[in-house]
Amino acid sequence: MLDILRRIVQDINATRDLHEALNLIVVEVKAALHTDVCSVYMTDATRGEHVLMATDGLRPGAVGKVRLKIGQGLTGMAASRSEPVNLDNAPAHPAFRYIAATGEAPFHGFIGVPIIRRRKVLGVLVAQQREQRKYTADEESFLVTLAAQLAGCITQAEIRQALERLDDDALSGTLFLEGVSSASGVALGEAVVVFPSTALDQAPDKDIDNPEAEAARFRQAVAAELAELQRLSERMRLLLSAGDRALFDAYALLLSSDSLVNGTLERIYAGNWAPGALRATVMEYANIFVEMDDPYLRERAADIVDLGQRLLDRLQEEQTVSRHYPDHTILMGEDISVSQLLDVPPEKIKGLVSVRGTSTSHVALLARGLGIPAVFGVSNLPPGRLNGREVAVDGYTVRVCVQPSPTLRQEYQKLIHEEAELSRGLQHLRDLPAETLDGHRLDLYANSGLFADIAAARNSGVQGVGLYRSEMHFFLRDRFPGEEEQTTIYTRILRIMDPHPVVLRTLDIGGDKSLPYFPIAEQNPFLGWRGIRISLDQPDLFKTQLRAMLRAGIAYPNLSILFPMISTVSELTEALELLRCAEAELREEGFPVQIPRIGLMIEVPSAVWKIDKLISMVDFASIGSNDLTQYLLAVDRNNDRVAKLYDSLHPVVLAAIRHVITQVQAAGRTVSVCGEMAGDPAAALLLMGMGIDSLSMNLGSLLKVKWMIRSVGYDEAQALLNEVIDLDTATAIRERTNIFLDQHGLSGLLRVGK
Ligand code: PEP
Ligand code: MG
Repeated sequence: MLDILRRIVQDINATRDLHEALNLIVVEVKAALHTDVCSVYMTDATRGEHVLMATDGLRPGAVGKVRLKIGQGLTGMAASRSEPVNLDNAPAHPAFRYIAATGEAPFHGFIGVPIIRRRKVLGVLVAQQREQRKYTADEESFLVTLAAQLAGCITQAEIRQALERLDDDALSGTLFLEGVSSASGVALGEAVVVFPSTALDQAPDKDIDNPEAEAARFRQAVAAELAELQRLSERMRLLLSAGDRALFDAYALLLSSDSLVNGTLERIYAGNWAPGALRATVMEYANIFVEMDDPYLRERAADIVDLGQRLLDRLQEEQTVSRHYPDHTILMGEDISVSQLLDVPPEKIKGLVSVRGTSTSHVALLARGLGIPAVFGVSNLPPGRLNGREVAVDGYTVRVCVQPSPTLRQEYQKLIHEEAELSRGLQHLRDLPAETLDGHRLDLYANSGLFADIAAARNSGVQGVGLYRSEMHFFLRDRFPGEEEQTTIYTRILRIMDPHPVVLRTLDIGGDKSLPYFPIAEQNPFLGWRGIRISLDQPDLFKTQLRAMLRAGIAYPNLSILFPMISTVSELTEALELLRCAEAELREEGFPVQIPRIGLMIEVPSAVWKIDKLISMVDFASIGSNDLTQYLLAVDRNNDRVAKLYDSLHPVVLAAIRHVITQVQAAGRTVSVCGEMAGDPAAALLLMGMGIDSLSMNLGSLLKVKWMIRSVGYDEAQALLNEVIDLDTATAIRERTNIFLDQHGLSGLLRVGK
């Protein structure tokens, strides 16, 4: 059954349009189940009908004509109950409806399985049998499994069809694609698709005219990869044991071996281009290892494929270096990385659309920092078909509009204009304090990670930088920056913001932030080697960073240092020891360094419940609500499938934050929130109600939050918090908070969303 299932899905993916796909499904399923009829009904939600779209076994003329009201008949019952209906004698069932047009009177056995995608019923897959027959449990599971796969294929096929319509001038129209989360704002521009490296096993074959040139291109890639492996091995000398580094040597050996390189060259000379030739050779070679009895040698198959992938990446890289970015670039791709985003000149990037990731993945944080609207989790995005098309990114409705009609384009332009107006209208707040109507003040800081946004922060009247993500600088290099280089960077940041405080966070890599030159591959990266855990395991790297920060602080006492991902008291103890050690060393070397204000991030539940002890060891706490939410709710902040469950307004998240604030303030220390919720006016209102001392957010949200603070009373915020914190769901809390904002004349902020 599994083989049949795989084959059907493969066949469907190869079809050109939805009709072809559905016709193929019914024929193949009918054959697989040895049954008399297979049909697909699709749900037309706007007309409230299930429409017969394809059949093998009923009258072909009924296709497109038979329409059942939603919920009508056994097919409608399967859809409305969202579960299979399996009957040996359908006409005997009270819900059975006889429809003459289908010619189905003689059929008795019936099974209808809903086709569901993300909780939405797209249609029903139906099989029927002349005789009385109850479909077996195995057949039912087969159809259920197939329907689950079909949902994705149908959506893809629908999109392909819509794109075809877009290509056809006579039928030009607009295509909307839904995402699951976003960075707010609206942008209009031209799609520039950045491909992630194609998976090696999907590299296509392609005929070439000039095998000599192609062979030279491949040889160049091999040479570059060899050099890179040597460099990596050399660089990792300090970080990895000789055993671990042996992998690089093994790769180098494979690259020098005849089989891989010559095999590929032979195929190139036979007329295939390099990616196709490489795929075929690597797969053939890897298969030899897969068949081996020795488990060690079997494992090497994965290494060969990995190496093949690296070579393929290199071949593709070379084609993308001279990328042209139009003036209004909307960057699109499977999984846009921070470096791909930074590759676009800042004045040209207007929007971002990604199949993967969510609004709290790190590329999203960067997009927000740079004020770029974005939509994430657009799982139906066919990036390969969109390059060069006009696209609107709507971070408010979390949708992407491909080729907007003139009316829609006007609408989007109007929204962009209104956004700009709102920002301009708030400019007068720039130098006013974030103070409530009844005189309660908060400090508002900016989150930052680049020089570009630091300079912008300086010019926007913020009171300082509440979170400087130091890893951003590490991303932009091809190796770890050394002490001198880091000292220069930190000094520059402190000088730009002087005398306003700057909180430099120590390196927070791992999770979704993997440095190209320090790859970390783990099964569960967010529960793995991240943040302070890496710093403590690599004291050489950590001390270099601490020394650089301390040295920068000599001339600029506006420095604070923040430790990320603290989950135990001993981690904080060790981090502080290393800090003191760095201080002592520097003093010995004659640098007049001082230990600055030290803070810890509260982003792991264990730290929430140990806050009394942890806070006694430092000067301040900063709540990383992005991670705290993911760890409290067990929702991966990067996974678009569960993005709907991720909400920092969840009552449990609010309760944890309130606990931290109370404890920290009881210990006479200050506490801030620096996760994304600080920049969400609704969440900021509740945090203020809890008595938070300061909020640190992306610059784009700062004046909006200040507007909110200056429009409400502190006592009202407290009362609202007490009213909502015991509600059961984040949705209920958000609804009530939005009503409050609306009543205070702040409806302009409601669009900002989560
Ligand atoms: C957080 O987790 O809320 C935070 C500010 O850190 P980051 O988003 O960089 O993980
Ligand atoms: Mg974090």
